[in-house]
Amino acid sequence: MTNNAYDQLVNDFMVKIIAKNPGEEEFHQAVKEVVESLVPYIEENPHYKEAKILERIAEPERVILFRIPWVDDKGEVQINKGIRIEMNSAIGPYKGGLRFHPTVNLGILKFLAFEQVFKNSLTTLPMGGGKGGSDFDPKGKSDNEVMRFCQSFMTELFRHIGPNTDVPAGDIGVGGREIGFLFGQYKRLKNEFTGVLTGKGREWGGSLIRPEATGYGATYFAEEMLKTKGDSLKDKIVAISGSGNVAQYATEKVTELGGKVVTLSDSSGYIYDPDGIDEEKLAYIMHLKNVKRGRIREYAEKYGCEYHEGQRPWGVKCDVAMPNATQNEINEDEAKILIENGCMCISEGANMPSTPEATLVYQDAKILYGPGKAANAGGVSVSGLEMSQNSLRLSWTREEVDSRLQTIMKDIHETCVKYGKEDDGYIDYVKGANIGGFVKVADAMLAQGVV
Ligand code: NDP
Repeated sequence: MTNNAYDQLVNDFMVKIIAKNPGEEEFHQAVKEVVESLVPYIEENPHYKEAKILERIAEPERVILFRIPWVDDKGEVQINKGIRIEMNSAIGPYKGGLRFHPTVNLGILKFLAFEQVFKNSLTTLPMGGGKGGSDFDPKGKSDNEVMRFCQSFMTELFRHIGPNTDVPAGDIGVGGREIGFLFGQYKRLKNEFTGVLTGKGREWGGSLIRPEATGYGATYFAEEMLKTKGDSLKDKIVAISGSGNVAQYATEKVTELGGKVVTLSDSSGYIYDPDGIDEEKLAYIMHLKNVKRGRIREYAEKYGCEYHEGQRPWGVKCDVAMPNATQNEINEDEAKILIENGCMCISEGANMPSTPEATLVYQDAKILYGPGKAANAGGVSVSGLEMSQNSLRLSWTREEVDSRLQTIMKDIHETCVKYGKEDDGYIDYVKGANIGGFVKVADAMLAQGVV
């Protein structure tokens, strides 16, 4: 079959997806990227086509929409939307984070749930895919308001989830504080202490290394990619976006492996610190963001470095870029600037942070490019390990969890190489991750019949 014929198949498929899911642009974008990788593979393996696996995998098994009423500190009633997408349970209970952010809508959560199916499969652990959240904005809310909101959210969600059904975790706007409030309310409603959420506190069922896992994992993935070129993170200049959970622990691990992180950002702007963000400066960021809940601008004021209001860090010269904030945060022009400035490796801690046009720029330049569903799978991997520990009623040591995380990231890298290596030696990690993630889920779906 020619490339044109494949393009036609992708277009035909996407016409149907867009008609069925109008206005859900991020979902269309995520499906198109996967379908582009899969169409040639499925043409070679027609049993998937006959069973309509692609059509089924792009339709959530269940979508739950609900109202979240709560009362703010002024005594005023507030209403938010609650959503849980139970996307695919072919290889295990639904698993995926909760996002609390004003931009949350059905299309964004469907894109995240769809990506999660492939990511979870890549981890080799038995986890299906899901995602959920709310348009609630925790920014500027008191702890009591966040607690009342979380309790109201769980008062509806609890009837749909469970340790063998659906196991949510954190994502943007949902960290240790929110998971605590959600878990407390679930336990109260069900009168059960179970591993129904991951990212729990260490003292009450959480796993060591879970907070670190996504940032560490994306850094290990970058190291694996660089290794294919006989290189490493040592002495590399690294640009990181975001300053939340993923960005913080990526900064920690890159620094530990000898790289120098020179940027961090939030939704207001980015800081550029050419001296590097060392251990002491990172401790300041962690306090600023996790306790004080302040803005990244304050870092520049404290350490006397540059702050660029309203901008993203991709114009800064770097060897490695780690977009760790949100979707579509690197566009085509920014991708070109990264390459012109000598960036050789991109490891995505965030989900779908590069636009399709940016991805093409990386692929044309044949740089090392680890897409989110492979590079950021460390978070859900350690969530899977938290589920195992909860089932065993045991806690593994930090070393044990970290060593399992490293092994999983190496295995994911190998899977990407297996399915993504081209004749000239270039590794197409997008294709590798999509096909590698698909096969296990698709085979399970085939085995389980038309369900
Ligand atoms: P956090 O809420 O801890 O941090 C998010 C960071 O990104 C903040 O600095 C935030 O800035 C910034 N950000 C959020 N939205 C935007 C936006 N629209 N434009 C610019 N900056 C923005 O979230 P995480 O670190 O947990 O998540 C970051 C990314 O990693 C997300 O894409 C998430 O899906 C992905 N991810 C997270 C996993 C995890 O384990 N936590 C697992 C796998 C992927 P501000 O404070 O100003 O909003």
